[in-house]
Amino acid sequence: MFTKTTTHKKVLLTGASGFIAIHTLQTLLSRGYKVKATVRSIPKGDYLVSKFPNLPLEIAIVPDISEPNAFDTVLKEDSEITAVIHMASPFFHPQSDPETQILKPAIQGTRNIVQAVHRFAPQVTKVVITSSFASILDVDKMNDHSTVFSEESWSPITWQESVEDLSKTYRGSKKLAEKEFWKFINENDDVNFSGTTVNPPFVFGPLIQQVSDIKSINTSNAVIYNTLFGENSKEDKDYTELTHLWVDVRDVALAHVLPLEDEESKFNGQRLFTTAGYFSPQLILDIANEKFPELKGKIPVGKPGTGLDRVDKIYQYDNKKTNELLNFEYRKFEDTIVETIQSILEFKEILN
Ligand code: NAP
Repeated sequence: MFTKTTTHKKVLLTGASGFIAIHTLQTLLSRGYKVKATVRSIPKGDYLVSKFPNLPLEIAIVPDISEPNAFDTVLKEDSEITAVIHMASPFFHPQSDPETQILKPAIQGTRNIVQAVHRFAPQVTKVVITSSFASILDVDKMNDHSTVFSEESWSPITWQESVEDLSKTYRGSKKLAEKEFWKFINENDDVNFSGTTVNPPFVFGPLIQQVSDIKSINTSNAVIYNTLFGENSKEDKDYTELTHLWVDVRDVALAHVLPLEDEESKFNGQRLFTTAGYFSPQLILDIANEKFPELKGKIPVGKPGTGLDRVDKIYQYDNKKTNELLNFEYRKFEDTIVETIQSILEFKEILN
């Protein structure tokens, strides 16, 4: 059975080249953890080492998390690892082949990590999985104001829908992968680890990952980039159409690390529904137009001041339980958006 350990020697972080993962890596290193980070290739590992020089960071190459036994070698070879944060999972909307591109890596990847821990790393006492608000949300109820989503809510999406409708594949992958995680814990009495999931909605924040082309930045920050500079950005568009929940990437990173420092075991078995509140692209435009005068005339204005007009027409949320567990203040939307735009603007070609 699970035995509590709060002093983790070394943390395994999967998918460390990703947007949220590199912030999580930064949080782990700044809190004094040793980290073994998995990435798909040597150059991706080299980037991380150059970003965090002279820190206790080791790289392991796992080219494809959906391959059978993908994590076995990493866990067999390193008995110092006592906690795992599994973040690797494809986050994009596929044009074809939903099973191979999205569902298999998400679900089999989750199965692979817990099986490897179970078989080869009995010293691991904590596994945190990056799930999503997608596992909580029922899309058919998004415009029903009487619906309240909370840590108890589950998306009703099925495997079949996820395969048949490519717009649903990503959401299905997150729900089915999270189910797989809890099922594994519930069905194996002899696991030594406790589990926690982090279920964020849209995650925004500065780009510190390697970005080869600003047009292909990570899916959630692309909402900001596309609102400002995207081909479909135009003056007469309704920028409140997408009104949803958001959270800052550094808060999500910390939410993955706090369960490792959990002296009272209060994070065990919990789903952390991390959100700072609602946003819409109109709110992004209002901030960008006010704080970045150099963008005047280069980005849309929309209808200033209407950014949260739809909030009383869509779902409500209740994440009190998560907030009590985390016990920190979420970052403010304006600060996050300003810092994210600043990091996007470092790609100077945008302003030309
Ligand atoms: P991201 O930048 O695209 O990161 C995804 C990571 O997963 C990358 O490191 C990627 O490696 C890796 N990966 C994907 N498929 C893989 C495979 N088959 N084998 C090995 N590695 C693979 O996206 P992110 O936004 O940081 O997402 C990180 C996690 O947060 C994901 O689990 C995502 O579902 C979850 N999440 C994100 C948001 C959000 O708004 N950003 C919200 C809720 C949940 P490469 O870089 O080499 O492709």
